[in-house]
Amino acid sequence: MSNKEMKHSKNIEGAWYCTDPDDDDGEGCIACNVCYTGAPDFFEEDEDGNAYVKKQPISDDEIELCNEQLEACPVNSIGLDG
Ligand code: SF4
Repeated sequence: MSNKEMKHSKNIEGAWYCTDPDDDDGEGCIACNVCYTGAPDFFEEDEDGNAYVKKQPISDDEIELCNEQLEACPVNSIGLDG
């Protein structure tokens, strides 16, 4: 599960976020590159390849694109309840 108590420190403020790889539940980002490859306008990789949200989606199309990344993330590291 995404963990809003363990957000990646580089997430931009807003509802969407990526969970830090050090999440205690072991379900933080594993640097698989799916989200920042699939939606590079919204997700970015840090120096270790872990993802964070760099821009919040606003339009329906943007939200749909980010939702596709949320569903594709293999460890449910992306959340939208932040
Ligand atoms: S899809 Fe999930 S595990 Fe893969 S880089 Fe993005 S947040 Fe990390």
